[in-house]
Amino acid sequence: MGFSIADDGLLQGDKVTHELVTGKDSGNFEPGQLDMIVMHYTAGTTLSGAVSHLAKPHVKASAHLVLGRDGSIVQMIPLNRKAWHAGRSEYANRTGINQYSIGIEMVNAGPLKRAGSHFVSLYGGRFDEEEVMEAVHRNESGARHWHIYTEAQIMCAFELCGALVERFNIQYIVGHEEVAPQRKTDPGPAFPLDTLRDQLLLSRSENLPLTPVVELAPPATRQARVSASRLNIRELPSLNAKTVRDPLPHGTRVTVLKQEQGWAKVRLEQEGWVKEDYLEG
Ligand SMILES: [Zn+2]
Repeated sequence: MGFSIADDGLLQGDKVTHELVTGKDSGNFEPGQLDMIVMHYTAGTTLSGAVSHLAKPHVKASAHLVLGRDGSIVQMIPLNRKAWHAGRSEYANRTGINQYSIGIEMVNAGPLKRAGSHFVSLYGGRFDEEEVMEAVHRNESGARHWHIYTEAQIMCAFELCGALVERFNIQYIVGHEEVAPQRKTDPGPAFPLDTLRDQLLLSRSENLPLTPVVELAPPATRQARVSASRLNIRELPSLNAKTVRDPLPHGTRVTVLKQEQGWAKVRLEQEGWVKEDYLEG
């Protein structure tokens, strides 16, 4: 894919279009202030619906980028200006997170409720079983149902944030649910937020390349993605072996280093062994 960011704050890339709105930002970031990315869901199901809502003059909200379910992106506010996505918010001893952050809205319906054989969202959307996952939100104690993000969308979010981290001095990638935990549940547990920041920010702090080491990997390796909703990663190729970290969320990209009797040795920040059946690509 590949993105570039021009000095005027416009993102360029194959699947990027621009529908810029005026009068819905607070001017340029103060020098040195921009160091966060805030991830959101739209609570809807279509890119066009989200963009037309955010474009309405009376809707006192805006976001820099809106990410569709097919991985396409609409930019609405230049990346050098302060959009209105976080609202009343607080993080790392700061308030008013809009003045520090780029806001990315991802098209996703959020929490869902079962209604017979299917699921419904707060806004009336109807969803089949395969579009739904059950998970515990980081701010809650019990599991409930959530609209899944598509693989194209997760891949795109990772690449997009990678480009932003390379271009700007990003120190934090957070969810709206973390900067406004009393009011917000986006992007929710269906989005692999912890993996995203581990991959992008840890690799930078350790001075490692931001992108997975595709070019450096020997030819025998291949790239794959986790197809299970959560996949255990172990020290050794055995179900009895200790896990080396929290399970890998759906969509996590790994490099397969070696295969052995139904197991694949993979690399992300850490190496370990996973059941090969649950990898694809
Ligand atoms: Zn939000």
